[in-house]
Amino acid sequence: MSQRVLIVDNKTIEKMKEFYQDDLVSKLPPGAILAAKPLNCSVTAYKSGKVLFQGARHEEEAAIWEAFTSSSQVTPKAKSPVIKKEPVNQPTFRNMSLIGSDEVGTGDYFGPITVVAAFVAKNNFARLTELGVKDSKGMKDDQIIKIAKQLIKEIPYSLLVLPNEKYNSLQAKGMNQGKMKAILHNQAILHLKKKLTSDYDGILIDQFVERGIYFRYISEQKEKVQEPNMFFQTKAESLHLSVAAASIIARYAFVKEMDKLSESAGFEIPKGAGSHVDVAAAKLIQTHGVEALGDYCKVHFANTEKAKKLLKL
Ligand code: MN
Repeated sequence: MSQRVLIVDNKTIEKMKEFYQDDLVSKLPPGAILAAKPLNCSVTAYKSGKVLFQGARHEEEAAIWEAFTSSSQVTPKAKSPVIKKEPVNQPTFRNMSLIGSDEVGTGDYFGPITVVAAFVAKNNFARLTELGVKDSKGMKDDQIIKIAKQLIKEIPYSLLVLPNEKYNSLQAKGMNQGKMKAILHNQAILHLKKKLTSDYDGILIDQFVERGIYFRYISEQKEKVQEPNMFFQTKAESLHLSVAAASIIARYAFVKEMDKLSESAGFEIPKGAGSHVDVAAAKLIQTHGVEALGDYCKVHFANTEKAKKLLKL
């Protein structure tokens, strides 16, 4: 097995314990004082200061700590402060079959939050690329809809919609958006896992909060997905097709929900949270009454007050 050994001091091992707090292994090998399993690697530290890095990513993982080795301790200040917890461009994702998850609608005043977990196996990369699945940022809605319609027939996924009414009631009880998202991601992943018939190498979440906070947010949930190979990356749509696919399906679902809202309002309900949205909210208040807002929008957004101001309410 390929491995790398570094010799560090006790202080560094303490730092490692903090750094790997979400990846710690409870059962320590004989003589070890720290054991962790981050992405595709295992890290074992001993009282003597010896730290063993093993597994496919042992070089990258060891590289994080090279600056802390005893030989280079003369210049600890210069090298120590920046710890890159989740390095971007994980090359290993390229060969992995992953569950990916992403959400849409969190920044839009009108409409629900839609969350999707999708599974993409590595032997499906070519087919999905052929379908046009890629990072959907910058893609037009009609293009997204076209791809999504085909995609939902071909890959396992799970979709959750948090309607505005429910969102507003959770928000009024003091729940922040981050926690709502974490709970939804957890549920979507859980539902998808129950449907899956094939094995997966890991779970990649398009990161919206730090990993530890994510797990704290879902800590009261009855069923939790908490596995060693769970990765949190920002801009994850560009790192693996599973997140790109999840993002496309979530956007498609969001657009459909917005169409329903438009139909029920009798005029087009806009996306985003800009001043055009204030105008639409004012129109909604005029036509359906102020109490209707709760069924259409995220009422705690500043747009609500701006719309009322427009109407001099
Ligand atoms: Mn996202």
